[in-house]
Amino acid sequence: MGQTILLNGMVLSAMPIGDYDKRLVVLTRERGKITVFARGARRPNSSLLAATNPFAFGEFELFEGKTAYNVCKITVKNYFRELTEDIERAYYGFYFLELADYYAVENVEAKDMCNLLYISLRALMKPAVENPLIRRVYELRMLVLAGEYPDVFGCVSCHTKEDLGFFHVKRGGMLCRACGALYGGIPVDASTLYTLQYIMTSPLEKLYSFQVTKEVLSCLEWIMNEYMSRYIDRIFHSLELLDMLLQ
Ligand SMILES: [Zn+2]
Repeated sequence: MGQTILLNGMVLSAMPIGDYDKRLVVLTRERGKITVFARGARRPNSSLLAATNPFAFGEFELFEGKTAYNVCKITVKNYFRELTEDIERAYYGFYFLELADYYAVENVEAKDMCNLLYISLRALMKPAVENPLIRRVYELRMLVLAGEYPDVFGCVSCHTKEDLGFFHVKRGGMLCRACGALYGGIPVDASTLYTLQYIMTSPLEKLYSFQVTKEVLSCLEWIMNEYMSRYIDRIFHSLELLDMLLQ
C-alpha cells in the first residue's frame, strides 16, 4: 500500500462487515464524509475496538484506496464516553450524528460542520442548557451550514424588516403582520424571533450560552418540526427512538 494521509474528524456510524471488520462513515474536516474500512476492528484485542465506535473523535491515519479508505491508525482525542452513560443523552447524540450524516457531502471540506457537531455534543454533556433546546439550536444551525435555512430577518413576501410576526413554512421564513394576515403562518413573538436570529448568527462559542422560556422553546420546536418535515426527506431512526423514550 502507498502513503498514508491524516484526516481529523469523528466516526458517525459503524457497521460490522464479515467476521472481524467494520465499515465506518467518518465526518472529516478536510474531506467531508468518507467511508473507511477498519480491518480486524472487532477482534477483542484490537487497538481499534473503541476507536471505531460512533462519537470517536480524533486523528485518522488512512490508506487511500480507489473507492474507500483503510485504517492505518486512529488517535482518539475524545470518545464522548459520558454521552453513552445516559440513554436520553445518547439518543440525542446519535440523532446529531445522523443529521450530520444526512447533510455532509463527500469530498467537500466540512470544518464548520465538524466544529458544530463537536460543540453540540459537548453541550449535551453539560447541564447548563436543556437537551430539547440544544437539539433545536443544532438543527437550525445545521440548516444554516447546509444552506437550507429560513429567512428570519425580513418578511419573505414584502421584504420589510419591521413588525415580523408570523413564520410561514411553505414560504420559507418570516412574514410581517400585514402579510401574515393574508397568508397565515405560525404566530411568533419577539423573543422567539430573536432566538431564531441569534441561533443563526451567533459565534459558535456562544451558541449554547443562553436559556429560553417554556413558551419560546415550544414555539421553536413547532417551527423546527414543521420546517424540517417539509424540507427533509429522511426518517431519523435515532429520533424515533428518542421520541418513544421521551413519551
Ligand atoms: Zn410583509
